[in-house]
Amino acid sequence: MITPSLSPDVFARYPGLENLGRTATRLHPRPGSVTAAGSHVGGPLRWPADEPWPTCDLPYMVQEEVPLPAELVARLREAESRRTQAHVLADGEVELHEEIARLVGTGFSGWGSVDGGQVVGYRYGPRSHPGPNPMIPLAQLRAVDVPDLPRPGGADLLQVLWCPFEHTVPPWGPTVELRWWREADLTDLRAEPPRGEAGADEYVPRPCRLHPERIVEYPYPDELPEHLRRLVDKHEDYLDTFMAPGWKVGGYARWSLTDVLPTPCPRCAGPTTLALVIDSSERGSARWQPRRADGEPDDDSYEPTEVIVGRYGALRIFVCLSCPDAPFLLDQQ
Ligand SMILES: [Zn+2]
Ligand SMILES: [Zn+2]
Repeated sequence: MITPSLSPDVFARYPGLENLGRTATRLHPRPGSVTAAGSHVGGPLRWPADEPWPTCDLPYMVQEEVPLPAELVARLREAESRRTQAHVLADGEVELHEEIARLVGTGFSGWGSVDGGQVVGYRYGPRSHPGPNPMIPLAQLRAVDVPDLPRPGGADLLQVLWCPFEHTVPPWGPTVELRWWREADLTDLRAEPPRGEAGADEYVPRPCRLHPERIVEYPYPDELPEHLRRLVDKHEDYLDTFMAPGWKVGGYARWSLTDVLPTPCPRCAGPTTLALVIDSSERGSARWQPRRADGEPDDDSYEPTEVIVGRYGALRIFVCLSCPDAPFLLDQQ
């Protein structure tokens, strides 16, 4: 995959921006066959036979259905029929909604029916895994394939695993484990990983090969020096021009949902490095539309991995390269 290069003209609008460039590797995951030997999303890992497989024991959220009594549904329908405008509630409807919420209980999120069947109330509640739940492989990245991969302690292989559920603790999505290795140390490998609960579809990656490509990114507007930040406000295409969408290693983080948040190491409180962005889509502006070797636009960039995080956002993993075991923190935007 090749990203069309940036016209040098765009820097004329931002004096000094060129000096703030930072490399990133776009991973360009695309569905394909993968093996434990390679870099990929969603495939088998080179896992040492004597290394315990990571598990999760945090509770997660499930949606439960509570059938609503027929007479309550009848009263609701009767009230709705008295509306004079489709979107203006009739007398008594608010009280009925409150009654449904009380009946459904804590975690109430609404009601509905499938194909005109039984009307049910919905609520979210915590549930525990039946036992420590084996995580699933999310990605395996080799430094030889991904030039911007951090290399804590001289590691040249990163494995990312997660528990594919909506957990009850921030950032609410999957729990994540990282493992850093030197490939030369991986000799006696495990044949089959343990299997856990199936998980939510949007957290189970479709196996993808990677087509890594090194690009240069520039800081998120709020992280620019003052004189540049003022210029960005006038040019709304800054983000689409200077920050890449999709899965990537390195580069800069976007802060589209919150203001720029500090990302201190959870152990030493020192600075961290953006190691990996897990993005719901690689689709962005025309500037970042990847092209295949034959020059044609690559149309498979929409949701290549089928992983959707947050509200169609991105999960970012920041690692501390100063602490010996590379602690990390997650941020979801
Ligand atoms: Zn879990
Ligand atoms: Zn640290």
